[in-house]
Amino acid sequence: MSFFTRFLLINLAIFQCLSLLCLAARDFDFFYFVQSWPGSYCDTRRSCCYPQAGKPSPDFKIHGLWPNYNDATYPSNCDSSNLFDPSQVSDLEDSMQRDWPSLACPSSDSTKFWAHEWNKHGTCAESVVDQHAYFEAALNLKTQADILKALQTAGINPDGSSYSLSKIKSAIEDGVKLSPGITCNTDESGNSQLYEVYFCVDSSASNFIDCPVFPDGNCDSSVEFPEF
Ligand code: AMP
Repeated sequence: MSFFTRFLLINLAIFQCLSLLCLAARDFDFFYFVQSWPGSYCDTRRSCCYPQAGKPSPDFKIHGLWPNYNDATYPSNCDSSNLFDPSQVSDLEDSMQRDWPSLACPSSDSTKFWAHEWNKHGTCAESVVDQHAYFEAALNLKTQADILKALQTAGINPDGSSYSLSKIKSAIEDGVKLSPGITCNTDESGNSQLYEVYFCVDSSASNFIDCPVFPDGNCDSSVEFPEF
């Protein structure tokens, strides 16, 4: 084989490797790490059921870690051959019961909620995280982003009062050092209330980043922060 042919073949091999890497990296662009206020999940017309483990502590809880694209679209249900298997996260279960409980009715052991999150979102990040790494990453992110502490430090408490949305945002920015996306739902009387807080995480699921795009803000300028 001539030197030139060998040179061409090596270049072709390098090019193929790089394209594969690029394709893998293009699975998605970043994650949304979403936490929700349980009082606002429960305080709606639909109401809620406490999990079998009992009433969760009054803190923001994990909703999910969602692969997303920079254009605000997202992939879902990417691999039906890799569905949630509780035995893969048994060592994380106590932490998941504490930080990622289901409030859906009827009361459950939360497995169905975790299965929904992995099957819909986690499978779209399986090139980066397996089931164990996915749930572990979310639990770790939660310990680094204490939303309730940031709000309470700024005098914003879950006491049923209303607070200005811009004050809530600044309190989270000051306390967590990240700019949040915030979404609201409505209580039984139709009042806008603080529901979910979005942070962005790089595609390795380990580092917070500035959000490339925020979810649509649907909150009023003043929002209720219900008790839980
Ligand atoms: P997702 O499909 O990941 O956007 O999540 C939306 C689904 O999760 C809906 O079916 C919600 O009812 C459900 N959900 C959201 N928060 C909770 C929660 N705290 N407990 C149980 N189910 C939830």
